[in-house]
Amino acid sequence: MKAEYDVIILGAGAAGLSAGLYTTRAMMKTLILESLGAGGQLLITDEIENYPGFPKGVKGQELSLMMEEQTTRFGAEIEYAEAESVDNLDQPVKVVRTYDKEYTASRLIIATGGSHNKLGVTGEDEYAGRGVSYCAVCDGNFFRGQDVVVVGGGDAAMDESYYLSGIVNSVTVVHRRDELRATKVLQERAFASPKFKWLWSHVVEEFVGNEILESARVRDLKSGEVYEYPTAAAFIYVGFHPNTEYLRGILDMDAAGHIYGDQHMRTNQPGVYICGDARAESTRQLGAAVGDGITAALAAYHDHSA
Ligand SMILES: Cc1cc2nc3c(=O)[nH]c(=O)nc-3n(C[C@H](O)[C@H](O)[C@H](O)COP(=O)(O)OP(=O)(O)OC[C@H]3O[C@@H](n4cnc5c(N)ncnc54)[C@H](O)[C@@H]3O)c2cc1C
Repeated sequence: MKAEYDVIILGAGAAGLSAGLYTTRAMMKTLILESLGAGGQLLITDEIENYPGFPKGVKGQELSLMMEEQTTRFGAEIEYAEAESVDNLDQPVKVVRTYDKEYTASRLIIATGGSHNKLGVTGEDEYAGRGVSYCAVCDGNFFRGQDVVVVGGGDAAMDESYYLSGIVNSVTVVHRRDELRATKVLQERAFASPKFKWLWSHVVEEFVGNEILESARVRDLKSGEVYEYPTAAAFIYVGFHPNTEYLRGILDMDAAGHIYGDQHMRTNQPGVYICGDARAESTRQLGAAVGDGITAALAAYHDHSA
């Protein structure tokens, strides 16, 4: 049986779009399957200051549109559907299934990235979309001039807190440690802003409200004190998990679900490649995702024509 596509790429984030740019320019018939929106995490990122070539920074959504345009210009097809399962990965013709279709390709590039973690506390699901959010860029504007909370202490938490500080009255960072994990430059920017307040060594135990969120019940880990902290919104940035559940037991992965790839992004199955944030040892940076995508595409091309 001949495969419909030379290569199918799962995920149209930075890694998948970069891979697609290279496979189409190498004249490989390419399909990209995307479950949500092309751009992936770029769509929920405000300003990116460390992607080379943009000395003044670039908005995540703007960059994502440019990447999509560049990739489709060379003929990559993007279809909006979730890859629900894969089959025959050890065979020359690999199968990808969405809820109503089946596609075949001789090469498969996995670029399904990662998604935010939830806190897992009472009220989080109940107030999602009514005060609890995982995307400052999408929802920050609803809370213009109000007091909000950000949970987390890494790069994403500091990046997005800073974005919020330009819109809201105050941003209180709730962090379970007494120091941040975020890059120094992001820390310094936050510490210099009069809009920031800090609840160090605190965790959120519950979200409380009526129709909409009204407060976060927090615990001071040092004193043990539990109290309600009024807030109009809570933006949660407590890490990511790779979107690889559909590949469990099929591709070699670490305990958290990151897929192992060699220096050419080859996985343990022939003709199957991993790139971007879903890859084990990924630095989870945009430039790295782009580089991974390119490497995976070149390996797929090389193996295809060998
Ligand atoms: C708030 C925030 C700020 C950031 N700031 C920076 C920064 O300043 N600098 C920097 O270098 N990096 C930053 N990053 C990280 C950077 O955005 C990521 O490293 C990069 O975008 C990852 O790209 P990716 O293609 O690997 O994954 P993703 O962007 O996660 O893309 C994966 C795509 O796959 C899709 N998908 C998932 N499962 C399936 C499936 N089963 N079938 C089909 N499609 C599927 C998803 O919908 C998504 O579109 C930030 C990230 C966030 C969240």
